[in-house]
Amino acid sequence: MELKQLKLSKRMIEKCTEAGFNEIEDLLWFFPVRYEEIRQKAFSDWLVNDKIWLEGTIVDPFKQVYLPKNRSVTKFHFQSLEGLFQVTIFNRPWLKLNQHITLQARYDGQNQLTGLQYNAQALMDQLGLVPIYALRKELTQKDMHKLVDKAFVFLDQCIKNDVPDVFRERYRLLRLKDALHYIHKPHTMEAVVQASRTLKYEEFLRFQTKLQVNRSINFSGQFGKVKVFDRRLVQTWMKQLPFELTADQKQVLNEILDDLQSKHRMNRLLQGDVGSGKTVIAALAMYATSLAHYQSALLAPTEILARQHAETLKQYLPKTLRIEVLYSSLSTQQKRKILTDLKNNEIDILVGTHSLIQEEVRFANCGLVVADEQHRFGVKQRQSLSEKGDKVDFLLMSATPIPRTLAAVLFNDVEISTITNYHSSKQNTQTFLIRENSIKPIYDQILKRLEEKDQVYFVCPSIEQSDRPTKSVEIIEAALKRGLPKHIRIGVLHGRLTAEEKTRVLECFYAQEYDCLVTTTVIEVGVNIQSANTMVVYDSDRFGLSQLHQLRGRVGRGSVEGRCFLLTDSEDELSLERLNVLVESQDGFEIANKDLALRGPGEIFGLKQSGIPSFLIANVVTDQAILMTAQKDGQEIMKNPSQYNAWLEHCRKELETQVVD
Ligand code: ADP
Ligand code: MG
Repeated sequence: MELKQLKLSKRMIEKCTEAGFNEIEDLLWFFPVRYEEIRQKAFSDWLVNDKIWLEGTIVDPFKQVYLPKNRSVTKFHFQSLEGLFQVTIFNRPWLKLNQHITLQARYDGQNQLTGLQYNAQALMDQLGLVPIYALRKELTQKDMHKLVDKAFVFLDQCIKNDVPDVFRERYRLLRLKDALHYIHKPHTMEAVVQASRTLKYEEFLRFQTKLQVNRSINFSGQFGKVKVFDRRLVQTWMKQLPFELTADQKQVLNEILDDLQSKHRMNRLLQGDVGSGKTVIAALAMYATSLAHYQSALLAPTEILARQHAETLKQYLPKTLRIEVLYSSLSTQQKRKILTDLKNNEIDILVGTHSLIQEEVRFANCGLVVADEQHRFGVKQRQSLSEKGDKVDFLLMSATPIPRTLAAVLFNDVEISTITNYHSSKQNTQTFLIRENSIKPIYDQILKRLEEKDQVYFVCPSIEQSDRPTKSVEIIEAALKRGLPKHIRIGVLHGRLTAEEKTRVLECFYAQEYDCLVTTTVIEVGVNIQSANTMVVYDSDRFGLSQLHQLRGRVGRGSVEGRCFLLTDSEDELSLERLNVLVESQDGFEIANKDLALRGPGEIFGLKQSGIPSFLIANVVTDQAILMTAQKDGQEIMKNPSQYNAWLEHCRKELETQVVD
């Protein structure tokens, strides 16, 4: 329903839109993050630092001092039922002598209070639980309360569907209407718990139903093209590789080859930690595909990586295969030649970025699409890709592993192959947490590594996150130029460079023409420079755990043990605890699991692209039991669709609108 109906001021509508509230439903489904309890407390129970509420009158002495920059301090005596207090409050210049107010204050001991906020309502009318919302943009807590109040008038009209009665009764859930009521305006914490159980289940059931509806339309039972090839040829070629595949690698390769040879259309996720050796598996799968006289496409998230992949494939695969890579700095002529040859079936493997999705890229007979770091490709892009050939097989590779049980419920329609144990040449990377956002404490160590001809990455948070000042590439570059000996050569790489410039910088770093590389997360995926084994991450608390794990996967790729220094000046306990997970664990699964619990899958897998929604209230890790129950119930719904018409209809509609965005 349109926001207009709430009869808001023009300014408020603007504020709402900026904050991402476009419909009344958006407000109703924006849940509080916590609740504050307003209650009266006898003076004898007050402890220093308690936040307390009291009602009373402002009395003399009353003193107001104006400070520069629109700030002010007001001091007054406050006569309340609990006694007479000396109050100090900042930036509340409108307070007047003799005014009667309800005050929230911090108790500083004796008769001292620091005012936090006040209003003109009687305290009696405010007792209870107050929802606290995570504020967005310019909306204040007060705005949120008003908006939600207004939205509540339309509650009934906004609820289009409820959890089917069978399930609601089975799990003793509330009606959606009541759940929304209790979550926004609870009387007790028990009511909040009841409400959130209901809302979580509803959210998961909707997700699961949509997943299964989608599956029944799209993939399942779809026949692919059987690829006929002699597996012994693949085995023979495996022996030519410079290393022996690990048992895990052999196993996942077999799973993939089975899929290629079967009638069933492959839609497989190959997951394994950074450096676990996924590329060689993809290479062999593409080799098998070529043996069956089909072409393959390999999609990489960045151009740098696409070109690197093409080089790697050439190393791994027989010289008889023609492997080409499409990238932006090719001349029009070169590009045209590749496209023509592709159409004429003269190219076996084409590597590229999103550019491969363009319409002008036509394969003669594409049989396999491999996407590296699959979460960076949208659902829609995947769809366009599958139209590149006739029922192509899909292999998606991801280095952000998710636990199998979770993957099974989240992806439903994807088979999963996992490399759990790594080949022995994979180095560990020692990780250190440095409680200062500068290299001072580790300066000597870094210098020593540089003298030993190691190369060092200096990673800064990307430029967009700026609610707190962070170290930018420019600042770090300047600081290093000042701080490090003059002969140390420093390169700079960030997202604002063109693809060509980026490639050039990386090539120089690769050729050891730079000793240091100051960079952003553009190097996060895939960059493979074995001579660089030290990494310094500034403002490391600003990164996600999986992201940091990916980043540090850039070092320790050669024969030297990697070293990663996480710098932070954050005092936040939770942040530090999170960073410590990386110090203590090298296990991508464990890290991903912690990250999932903390940030939810949307953040990690790249929101909409992943096909996994970011849940509003449910958490896929901590609420896993509910998720599994919802999956089972989703299946029950699909088995007896006629009993759940309304619910299914509702989910189908949501699916339709989802495809649009
Ligand atoms: P991923 O893509 O999974 O992060 P890569 O495929 O880039 O990992 O492999 C990382 C490195 O490990 C590469 O240099 C690769 O040649 C090497 N490698 C892969 N498999 C093995 C193996 N079985 N034994 C030794 N080295 C391997
Ligand atoms: Mg890789």
